[in-house]
Amino acid sequence: MDPISTIEAYLGFPEGADPATRHTIEKTYQEMKTLLKGRCVHETFKVAAVREKIVDLSHPLLSLKGGSITAHLAGCEEVVLMACTLGQAADRLIQLRSRLSPYEGLIHDAAASVMIEEVCDDCEAIIKQAYPATAHFPFRFSPGYGDMPLSDQINILQVLDAYKKIGLSLNESSLLVPLKSIVAVLGIASRPLEARAPTRCGEDSCQACPYYESCHFRK
Ligand code: SF4
Repeated sequence: MDPISTIEAYLGFPEGADPATRHTIEKTYQEMKTLLKGRCVHETFKVAAVREKIVDLSHPLLSLKGGSITAHLAGCEEVVLMACTLGQAADRLIQLRSRLSPYEGLIHDAAASVMIEEVCDDCEAIIKQAYPATAHFPFRFSPGYGDMPLSDQINILQVLDAYKKIGLSLNESSLLVPLKSIVAVLGIASRPLEARAPTRCGEDSCQACPYYESCHFRK
């Protein structure tokens, strides 16, 4: 789906907004693209051991918990941990616009949500370039999907040194600060993975997702 249609869907217009709203969305998205720059940090780890509902990585602080992530990474020999953010500037811009007009604030918020996914997509594409074309990647998985706890983000951010490198941290409620940020796990397998649905998290694929029942973010 193109970014404008995705923003429309986030705003509750799955069939597309009226022309005036669409024009405002397009203008907002273009303005935000010029104002905000995404930042990303990532690092690769070997899968050291797979226990019941826990995947241990080749770092003493890194154990990914939950049956969902364990099933998701089945067959993967390596894992890339990623942390991406649009920075404090995105949060400030959304707050400012929301104060001026709640309608504009909602559009800015939805546009930022699409933009941070784009930052992750770009980061993922760069990571994948370092692997042979024969490598296989299940979709990138974030703490909070399925039964993977949000608290797993603490050690991931610490090991990635995310605060120092890109200004990303976690508050007491396990929410990322800045808000328009994503922490994700990308598995890498040298052999074909068993077929699993969906190929991408979110969008319209939640109903078919094996992690639907326990997922905090299902739509
Ligand atoms: S239920 Fe939806 S949001 Fe949750 S992991 Fe599956 S595709 Fe992603």
